[in-house]
Amino acid sequence: MPDEISGPDFDPDSFSHLIDQTTFLAAVTMHELSLAMNILDIAEKTAQTNGATLVKDIYVDVGALAGVMIPSLEFGLEIAKRDTRARQAAIHIQEIKARGRCPTCGGTFPMGFYIEPCPQCDNSYLSMVAGDELRVREIEVEQN
Ligand SMILES: [Zn+2]
Repeated sequence: MPDEISGPDFDPDSFSHLIDQTTFLAAVTMHELSLAMNILDIAEKTAQTNGATLVKDIYVDVGALAGVMIPSLEFGLEIAKRDTRARQAAIHIQEIKARGRCPTCGGTFPMGFYIEPCPQCDNSYLSMVAGDELRVREIEVEQN
């Protein structure tokens, strides 16, 4: 008799890696959610300072090596903005490509990892000049 629920290849042990992955993803989302709440806090205060009831646009720069998952951050912002003055705000997230400067030759080069050797010098490592930032670049509020 076929087992329709678990299927013929069901093996409980094969799920253990999925549980670990889910726990991992939940942790990542918590990180981005707390960043989203900080961003919305800045938006809220900007609206207050300017006497505005609504935030129109939020512009955020995220470095490619900032350790932030942009889809998670977007998701967090959409969820967390609901009860704030930014509830109708359009979220604009721009990814900043990572670049590093070499202390030996002074050249700047793209970086794909946090620690990267200079492509021109053998023993020098690039020091990051862009790509690890997370900043609110601009907030536009509705003028009453
Ligand atoms: Zn170099």
